[in-house]
Amino acid sequence: SKFVYFFGKDVTDGKSSMKDLLGGKGANLAEMANLGVPVPPGFTITTEVCVLYLKEDKYPEEVLRQVEQAIDKLEKLNGKKLGDPEDPLLVSVRSGARVSMPGMMDTVLNLGLTDKSVIGLANKVNDERFAYDCYRRFIAMFGDVVLGVEFRKFDSLIDDKKKELGVKSDTDLDSKALKELAEKFKEVIKLEKGFEFPQDPKIQLQMAINAVFDSWNNQRAITYRKLNNIDDSWGTAVNVQTMVYGNRGDTSGTGVAFTRNPSTGEKKFFGEYLINAQGEDVVAGIRTPDFIDTLGNKIPEAYAQLVDICQKLEAHFKDMQDIEFTIQEGKLYMLQTRTGKRTAAAAVKIATDMVAEGLIDKETAVKRVNAEHIDLLLHPRIDPKAKLEVIAKGLPASPGAAVGKVVFTAEDAEEMAEIGEKTILVRTETSPEDIGGMAAAQGVLTVRGGMTSHAAVVGRGMGKPCVVGCGEISIDMKNALFMVNGYTIKQHDYITIDGSVGSVIIGKVDLIDAEINEDLKKLLVWADEIRTLGVRTNADNPVDAALARELGAEGIGLCRTEHMFFGEDRIPAVREMIMAEDEKSRKKALKKLLPMQKEDFLGIFRSMEGLPVTIRLLDPPLHEFLPDKEELDAKLRELEASGDCGKIDEVKKVIQRVVSLKELNPMLGHRGCRLGITYPEIYNMQVRAIMEAACELTAEGMKVIPEIMIPLVGLVKELTLTKEEVQKTAEAVMAEKGMRIDYKIGTMIELPRATIVADQIAKEADFFSFGTNDLTQTTFGFSRDDVSKFVPIYQKAGILEHDPFAVLDQEGVGELMKIGIQKGRSVKPKLKMGICGEHGGEPKSIAFAHEIGIDYVSCSPYRVPIARLVAAQSTM
Ligand code: PEP
Ligand code: MG
Repeated sequence: SKFVYFFGKDVTDGKSSMKDLLGGKGANLAEMANLGVPVPPGFTITTEVCVLYLKEDKYPEEVLRQVEQAIDKLEKLNGKKLGDPEDPLLVSVRSGARVSMPGMMDTVLNLGLTDKSVIGLANKVNDERFAYDCYRRFIAMFGDVVLGVEFRKFDSLIDDKKKELGVKSDTDLDSKALKELAEKFKEVIKLEKGFEFPQDPKIQLQMAINAVFDSWNNQRAITYRKLNNIDDSWGTAVNVQTMVYGNRGDTSGTGVAFTRNPSTGEKKFFGEYLINAQGEDVVAGIRTPDFIDTLGNKIPEAYAQLVDICQKLEAHFKDMQDIEFTIQEGKLYMLQTRTGKRTAAAAVKIATDMVAEGLIDKETAVKRVNAEHIDLLLHPRIDPKAKLEVIAKGLPASPGAAVGKVVFTAEDAEEMAEIGEKTILVRTETSPEDIGGMAAAQGVLTVRGGMTSHAAVVGRGMGKPCVVGCGEISIDMKNALFMVNGYTIKQHDYITIDGSVGSVIIGKVDLIDAEINEDLKKLLVWADEIRTLGVRTNADNPVDAALARELGAEGIGLCRTEHMFFGEDRIPAVREMIMAEDEKSRKKALKKLLPMQKEDFLGIFRSMEGLPVTIRLLDPPLHEFLPDKEELDAKLRELEASGDCGKIDEVKKVIQRVVSLKELNPMLGHRGCRLGITYPEIYNMQVRAIMEAACELTAEGMKVIPEIMIPLVGLVKELTLTKEEVQKTAEAVMAEKGMRIDYKIGTMIELPRATIVADQIAKEADFFSFGTNDLTQTTFGFSRDDVSKFVPIYQKAGILEHDPFAVLDQEGVGELMKIGIQKGRSVKPKLKMGICGEHGGEPKSIAFAHEIGIDYVSCSPYRVPIARLVAAQSTM
């Protein structure tokens, strides 16, 4: 079989659809070659070989034979031979997985240089300095990547050399200095490894290929895959490519660019480059690069060609591209193109712009925007009214504001996150080892690096607010502090960063919620045209209801009436109701609550005029509304000590009631419809409030659609009985008001038993709403209030993939839901069904809801846009 695929002008084997086999980089190099874009020729060793090699520690003879052949071909094409002492062929060896893993795996450049061939190179290009610059770079890179000698061992020798010669920049080192460095580097390798730096290019190549394969399993790559849900079994391809040089003087350079602005989405070529530099210098943030616009003044022809190629690539791939290029003595070469990572805002803008440009259709646009990123768009930014003490400015690498305590290491960020602390990770520059810490922090701040540095690229990918290249900061690791412009910020002091403008602000700044811009609105309207799943909201006050409606909610799927009971003006009346010893005094207390509840419903119905409003009758155990027993005991002791006998009896009575209401398992106790059945007057008051409000607004000419929902039903008779009571009250109110309201009575399906007898329940219900919180709790037997004690451990141990209270357990809970849906609809084929547990706003669970035939999801207001988008994506 074929293990090696060639690419180059007129000799290309692969194409862009072969990413699984050739990796993203290899497949797109082939595609560019096919498009006639100038690409230095080379070949790709397939991911299949990596998988074989990692399993067996060696690969079939056939692979080696095909690599040999490919090198022959490459030598003929270039008219140069590997290791030739007169005119050597030099190659780069790079990784390239199916999906890009920026900076996670290894790269070796200038391979093929030896003590002999470096002289040939120097003579051939008539530039000794250049040749030794390549050689010392190669030895250090090979030493680091292939042999595992720490890079700083080489780096510190360069610093020594610069000091010795009194020069500042690497480019100031002359050929003699570079030659000496190359010698010293080889000595370091000899000392560290006990063998000589290999002088046979074929051996160099073999070792480099193996090192790239091995780098699939380095720690940072493993962590990156875990964070990004990338399959460990894929392996990486290896690309061996003819070297081109950006470090051949002032008409040479190298850069990275995006065809559109990856931060804002603006349709403007965006990127950075360095004149007289080689590949990694830009990404590593060693020198601060220039903005791409200025390249046109320096190397106009190559720049014009670059702009032209970028347009061609975008038109071909129909998406924003992230490219790497090198210009060697005025001649442009493309080294990579891939779909560019972008911020949420950019994703939305690019998608909607491309529809307007006719490049993609609306469905594609909706598909392209990632649900988690929408979340970020709705994330906080700095309150414009806040007073800011800006202490430094860096580059705005990834937008959004973040507040947190300063930490200087990735480990500290991770540890702080574990105890629930918010942090800002402050680093000189980030490296791929830091990704765990970046994920754990609220935001990232770096001293060095540009807009395409590691921190910037990874930050944008993660959607983390990020400020980079803040050169004014000096970090003092020893004393765990940083200094900037006269300020000293210690570890765990609060700072705020604004990744949209690049500012660093002292202290904790107030953040405010973001709003939806016109592009996002447009995209969500397209999503609405596509989706079939309804989206409602969980809201229990007029303000949230109005906000959710703004964000596109098509009604309320769950109004938890107990939240209204907690209001400061209500709690005395609620307590009075609970303290009541008989029906009469309970009714008296309920009478006080009635007007307040009615007021609530008037507001909510108004906010949701014309849309359905599902109101759930009281659900939680009553003791939740009573004061804490320990506090009461303390109060009693206080009163006894002060001799204030008047109040002692009162407090004693409350304590007695608290004790009598106490339950061992309140979540499985006296709650839900069980309360309604034991104290029918509570539900009667609530129904009266709902219906009176509905009647009054209807009389005003407003359209009100109330849906009364009974919680925690497991036995059909619970519903029958409660429903009768509800109907009685509703009829009474309507008779009093002399009008009819079209209202519904439905039930929550949140107990396993309810799903199993859903056919019986359906006969009595106008609708079902799956309470996936309680259904998860009761299916697993996991207390929803105590899971943090063991679920994280389960996840670490691989027992559970997700927290089932966050991501719906499709296998267990989902299966029960399917039974409930099927049985319910066997009785009433059109029975309306929703989800109102937290899962209603979680992308995977929303997709599942669509799949199993749920009619709508209901989620918190800020998740509504996400639900609209995911609902549309679920149809594709
Ligand atoms: C549920 O159980 O999923 C639900 C929505 O009700 P609550 O969270 O109020 O128990
Ligand atoms: Mg519930």
